[in-house]
Amino acid sequence: MKPAPFAYCDPQTLEEALELLARHGEEAKILAGGQTLGPLLNMRLAMPAVLIDINGIAALEHRRADTKGLAIGALTRQSALEDDADVGALQPLLALTLPQIAHRAIRNRGTVGGSLAHADPAAEWPAIATLLGAELIVQSRARGTRIIPVQEFFITHLTTALAADEILCEVRLPPSAPGSGYAVLEFARRHGDFALAGAMARLTRDAAGRLRDPRLVLFGVGKRPERASCAEAMLAGARPEAGLFAAAAQTAAGETDPYDDLHASARYRRHLAGVLAGRALEQAFARTGEDGHA
Ligand SMILES: Cc1cc2nc3c(=O)[nH]c(=O)nc-3n(C[C@H](O)[C@H](O)[C@H](O)COP(=O)(O)OP(=O)(O)OC[C@H]3O[C@@H](n4cnc5c(N)ncnc54)[C@H](O)[C@@H]3O)c2cc1C
Repeated sequence: MKPAPFAYCDPQTLEEALELLARHGEEAKILAGGQTLGPLLNMRLAMPAVLIDINGIAALEHRRADTKGLAIGALTRQSALEDDADVGALQPLLALTLPQIAHRAIRNRGTVGGSLAHADPAAEWPAIATLLGAELIVQSRARGTRIIPVQEFFITHLTTALAADEILCEVRLPPSAPGSGYAVLEFARRHGDFALAGAMARLTRDAAGRLRDPRLVLFGVGKRPERASCAEAMLAGARPEAGLFAAAAQTAAGETDPYDDLHASARYRRHLAGVLAGRALEQAFARTGEDGHA
């Protein structure tokens, strides 16, 4: 199929792009890597009057590391981060997760911002941002810069707090606490497919061997990735003993609100989420005290 006709603009600066968005609003769509938008246009599930191609805006393709963590420009390609050993060392969750996103050819074009703005509940970037407590930096001509905490950014399936005249410019990830262990586990029918369910965990031990600020996120099992807050509360301050992770995983599965679709039933997704959560907690714990990942 072919897309419906549209006007094409390729601004070379953020100011130009914001001006175009301010002018066209709901009629316009931003084109980043095109890995999601391309098929949507071809199937006429998206029919914007104006396509604003942001690939020429070099200022959106940056990364910066400092004591506040890692700031990643929205136009950064998934594969560029995957190939950057410094990024993996600073944020071990990225080194573990990026290779699991789609296929390498898709990661070569697909951008961090495109994945976050699209907000697929089964996608890895929204789950990463949720687990780490990211901040999303967005800009519009009318309101300037807004910093949106991740818990306010993802609203529901394919819906974020981004307004029609806003561009997602940067995601900021807080620094990884020394000795934290991470794990990401997901299940898909075919390599490269979106996960039917996935679990991400981060565990850190204090000097007394108690778990500090544990994080567990389940994705693909609801309208957006969610922290399993009851399970996290069970883990916080506990000394890992036999059965703790299995019990927390069961609690986490009970916190999910999965859906039936042609790929899997809600019941199956909840079961899968529990199994993956248990394994992710075990793996993350085994990695605590190391450099964070195997
Ligand atoms: C076969 C296949 C398998 C895939 N499997 C996975 C997978 O397993 N896991 C996964 O996470 N992803 C997967 N993807 C999606 C892929 O990761 C894409 O990179 C991602 O969804 C969109 O990124 P993009 O840069 O291509 O965005 P685009 O397709 O260009 O845009 C996507 C949407 O975001 C908007 N947008 C883009 N950038 C911005 C911005 N800076 N500000 C505001 N709005 C913006 C666009 O207007 C559009 O609505 C898969 C894709 C394909 C084709």
